[in-house]
Amino acid sequence: MSWQTVRKDPAPRVPPNLDDYDAARAAFSWSAARAELDGLPGGQGLNIAHEAVDRHVATGRGEALALRCVGRDDTVTCVTYRELARSTARFAHVLRELGVGRGDRVTTLLGRCPELYTVVLGTLKNTSVLCPLFSAFGPDPVAQRLRLGDARVLVTTAELYRRKVAGQRERLPGLRHVLIVDEGAGELPGTLAYDALTAAAPDTFAIPPTSPDDMALLHFTSGTTGTPKGAVHVHEAAVAHFATARYALDLHPDDVFWCTADPGWVTGMSYGVVAPLMHGVTVVVDEGDFDARRWYRILAEQRVGVWYTAPTALRMLMRTTPRDGPHDLPGSFDLHALRFIASVGEPLNPEAVLWGRDVLGLPVHDNWWQTETGAIMIANFAGCDIRAGSMGRPLPGVEATVLRRGEDGRALVADGRVTEVQDPGEEGELALRPGWPSMFRGYLHDERRTEAAFADGWYLTGDLVRRDADGWYWFVGRADDVIKSAGHLIGPFEVESALMEHPAVAEAGVIGRPDAVAGNVVKAFVSLRPGFEPGAPIRRELLAFGRRRLGPAVAPREIAFDQHLPHTRSGKVMRRLLRARETGLPEGDTSTLESTEGSA
Ligand code: AMP
Repeated sequence: MSWQTVRKDPAPRVPPNLDDYDAARAAFSWSAARAELDGLPGGQGLNIAHEAVDRHVATGRGEALALRCVGRDDTVTCVTYRELARSTARFAHVLRELGVGRGDRVTTLLGRCPELYTVVLGTLKNTSVLCPLFSAFGPDPVAQRLRLGDARVLVTTAELYRRKVAGQRERLPGLRHVLIVDEGAGELPGTLAYDALTAAAPDTFAIPPTSPDDMALLHFTSGTTGTPKGAVHVHEAAVAHFATARYALDLHPDDVFWCTADPGWVTGMSYGVVAPLMHGVTVVVDEGDFDARRWYRILAEQRVGVWYTAPTALRMLMRTTPRDGPHDLPGSFDLHALRFIASVGEPLNPEAVLWGRDVLGLPVHDNWWQTETGAIMIANFAGCDIRAGSMGRPLPGVEATVLRRGEDGRALVADGRVTEVQDPGEEGELALRPGWPSMFRGYLHDERRTEAAFADGWYLTGDLVRRDADGWYWFVGRADDVIKSAGHLIGPFEVESALMEHPAVAEAGVIGRPDAVAGNVVKAFVSLRPGFEPGAPIRRELLAFGRRRLGPAVAPREIAFDQHLPHTRSGKVMRRLLRARETGLPEGDTSTLESTEGSA
């Protein structure tokens, strides 16, 4: 394996939290990390909202800025830790008054508005469970997740409610309360006005005793087959959020921090809300959408010091500002406050690491984790050299390995035993030793899939990697069929199921087609029912149908017609083969392929 090493900054502005990797790993223990958190007063347990908000007020940092929210119209709303303590207390009271209690699910379908932060942390104060949904989901994914997650409360806007929920409310009997954060609640039957309820509530709230094992967050993620999986996280996850933000994001108490991920996904929750607030830093929130000029302006005007973003966003910035071209755009903004850049969610090409160094003056530090791990597991660190193209090395407290694969592409489990690869560079499935505090505690109501995620004392990640002789990890691809598009994980089954509800569609197979900017775009291969002709009109119709049902974040971008979709002998559409054909790769072992004779 060959790579380019990007040397660590010889004179960093602030001393990095981790500069000697081996020493940090040797010195680390999760129990010591746990001891750094305060816990609830009177030894009443551990609650994420206390650690993220109230403890700063209790230790005299109430006037520090918790949030700087940049609105779509560029107005900036500042929220101190004391104000956040009060608003979250009010929301906790609102829930209590509504009869919503411990373990009950509160779901958000919101953009990145200030209320979101209040709802998340107020829900946790009330020991209820917060389940965030991405606001670009269409009505189908929203309803399915509300149902699977047993949502009792939904907090959303009038428009999102009208477009995505109102029409299916009758089919969601468990959804007792819908709170509307903006104007319009009055005109929508069956909803309550968030403002009126919170204004009438007291602004102090004693957090009830909370066990570290109490469920706190529910994040939906996608698998290859079946419904989305609700990964359950508990309050103890806070220990990992705190420790990993210190090491992998190098957070220091006076930092201004911007995580560009939407809190509808796990990165935006763990590192856009919980971890930075636990560190008492100022979190920048941008309500607007990606725009290169806007992003550079936010970095400059908000004096962002630490920036956590994603490869798709970086690739879009690289297009507007090539590494070897004139650097007018970032050059016209004062980015001097910026001192550390990290990226997650998709493979970060070496070119992007170097682009950061040459155009922004700082290399990009890749790191790896997933919904189930709850926190960063593998990273390039501020105080260490970077191997451009590598995800880095396991964090202190994290034990990782690479497992030999079986015929199905996943880790080979024979008689309950797995085999770790021995040779550096050998490809296998990335696995982690359970025991870190933010490991998911299971998929909600789905013991079978939870069990399948573990073997022989390891958690199996579903990712294929290589580990070099020095212990650095290199991403190879997914071991399964899930699709990463613009940083969002998409289950092909969810897309196929939606398409098959269209009267023209007999069958669909959905894959990710490699794309230079988004990583992958969702492409559907469709066979049509008799009486329907492939062509531009039906293609347009299916694309629009997909968008309406699934929303722009999940819907297919491309449709191809194929009356002879390849099948496995058990009759499933063989996505692996569709992918191989699409990318011109060898089709591999097709012995499980159904004969196409007479299969039409
Ligand atoms: P999610 O659970 O939605 O956060 O997606 C997690 C998945 O994103 C992982 O299992 C990987 O497939 C992918 N991923 C996350 N970080 C990286 C990275 N640094 N490099 C490559 N793939 C990544």
